[in-house]
Amino acid sequence: MTEVTADHIHKLIDEYDMDDITIATVCSHTSLQIFHGAKKEGFKTLGICIGEPPRFYDAFPLAKPDSFMSVDSYEEILERTDELADKSTILIPHGSFVEYLGAENFANIRLPTFGNRKVLGWESDRQIERKWLEGAGVPMPRKIKSPEEINGPVMVKYQGAKGGKGYFIAKNITEFNESIDSKEVYDLQEFVLGTRYYLHYFYSPLSGDGYRLSQGTLELTGMDRRVESNADEIFRLGSPTELEEAGIQPTFVVTGNVPLVLRESLLPKVFEMGEKVVEKSIELFGGLIGSFCLETVLTDELEFKVFEISARIVAGTNPYINGSPYSELIQPDLSTGRRIAIEIKKARDMGCLEKILT
Ligand code: AMP
Repeated sequence: MTEVTADHIHKLIDEYDMDDITIATVCSHTSLQIFHGAKKEGFKTLGICIGEPPRFYDAFPLAKPDSFMSVDSYEEILERTDELADKSTILIPHGSFVEYLGAENFANIRLPTFGNRKVLGWESDRQIERKWLEGAGVPMPRKIKSPEEINGPVMVKYQGAKGGKGYFIAKNITEFNESIDSKEVYDLQEFVLGTRYYLHYFYSPLSGDGYRLSQGTLELTGMDRRVESNADEIFRLGSPTELEEAGIQPTFVVTGNVPLVLRESLLPKVFEMGEKVVEKSIELFGGLIGSFCLETVLTDELEFKVFEISARIVAGTNPYINGSPYSELIQPDLSTGRRIAIEIKKARDMGCLEKILT
């Protein structure tokens, strides 16, 4: 596949009809709030779907895109970019979009996409991601170099595993050997005990008012906790010892999200972590742009450990279609989908879309 250049994207943007921009995304994940938010800001919307448009959009008229583009496979999007460019389309990536299309395909798609595509190279490999986050000075769970060094609970994560699928906990090397799939590449991380907080941020390189960074501002738009099957309800069956005796293991497959707020006294730490991550990203690859999420465990010492970063809109923002207890203090009725549309509108009006689209 030919690599797409910044010049190519800038040229496309130059040819776009600024009064007729279409916001498009794949019909899944956070598409309802992306379309809902874009419509509220006066944009046209387009949903990309495999086969027939999903019927559930009929049930949600305020979030139903104005039109659909049906494809037989996600790769077909790559062949139909001219059609989308003719509609002055801006693509909004979300987790499923990038996963279904593949990170490499997404990185080379010949259409303007919201955010900095260079971030893909920094988050798709756990070692490189660790360089970014630890380099930023953000505390992470300890990395265990080899199974021989396991001397307490560790989380075993397969490379590229999505939504926690296949992860397992091992407390010693015997348990590790019992469950490991030796064909897979894995990563061993200290299992951090505490409560999970998935912190949603928005970094605007354009904004000057608010929590200011070296360039632009940082917003805290919300937070959630994922619900994971079966870990979150496993203890309905019995005590940890009873479960272990019965050979029942926790699994970590994400099934949904619940809203959450944090002790207010911890907000300075939340901003400090977000700030460090953004500043380091500016230094490493020109900055991540727009929404991102730090996935953390907060220990009983009130220390955050960041076990993952997601550098685009996360599904944990879905409970906040009308705003969160934090975004409500920025602007009423502000979903992350709408926040993205506002950023695009602002960049368009300032004549600098190329600052937030790559
Ligand atoms: P991830 O795919 O990295 O987002 O992880 C999936 C789930 O595994 C998370 O939502 C957590 O419940 C759990 N998890 C991941 N890493 C850790 C860790 N180091 N300590 C405790 N739980 C973790």
